[in-house]
Amino acid sequence: MAGLEFFQFPVLSDNYCVLIHSPETGETAAVDAADATTILAAAKEKGWKLTHLLITHHHWDHTDGLAEIKQQTGCTVIGPKYPGKGKDGPVEGVDTTVGDGDTFTFASSTVEVLHTPGHTLDMVNYHFPEEKAVFTGDTLFVLGCGRVFEGDGKMMWESLEKLAALPPETSLYCGHEYTLSNARFAITVDPSNEALKLKLAEIGAKRERGEPTVPGRIGEELETNPFLRPADPAIRKHLGMETAKNWEVFTEIRKRKDNA
Ligand code: ZN
Ligand code: FE
Repeated sequence: MAGLEFFQFPVLSDNYCVLIHSPETGETAAVDAADATTILAAAKEKGWKLTHLLITHHHWDHTDGLAEIKQQTGCTVIGPKYPGKGKDGPVEGVDTTVGDGDTFTFASSTVEVLHTPGHTLDMVNYHFPEEKAVFTGDTLFVLGCGRVFEGDGKMMWESLEKLAALPPETSLYCGHEYTLSNARFAITVDPSNEALKLKLAEIGAKRERGEPTVPGRIGEELETNPFLRPADPAIRKHLGMETAKNWEVFTEIRKRKDNA
């Protein structure tokens, strides 16, 4: 099995980009393309040549650098086959489109594609089972989830369920450093969660030192991320929603976060 190297760095004000490199084949993929200059500089710094771009969704802060990176490197761009809301096709510049349940090989590692609509309708996430890592774009964040712009609460909940079902040891790479504000909100809907209290303190300290809180881990999210915990009795009691469906509880938590 080929071991891949991951190199995460910040782009724009709060986005993350990750370079995935195979020392064996020399191939390098970037997940999302916020900004060509920053991403090309990061690859250069590592001495890696970009061969692939993996796009999660059509939003500008994930695609703005696509055309320039492709032009400068000749890389292959993989992205969702689904159009975003109001779009007539996939993201411009995508060479290979992928959809739910598709698998492909990157540098002899398997990549499984999950369609996780809600934030946008086109959103796909990339799971590397052998590397125990998933790239969730703006669907699942550490202690949070993306705003539901194009889908609805039920759709977003069903997307999050797919990510919650991944092995708990899976590393969670998400598109943004939103963890501290997510943590501060999380504690308001799940105030008696001891694991969450500990995590809030740990995250605050990390951010004070200027360290990233990403990647997280799926197993930890199941214990602390309220958006994955609508079945939790304490959260339901706190919201007065003991008999509601999971997606309804999720939708209420999302609404509160939007208004926080
Ligand atoms: Zn987005
Ligand atoms: Fe984003």
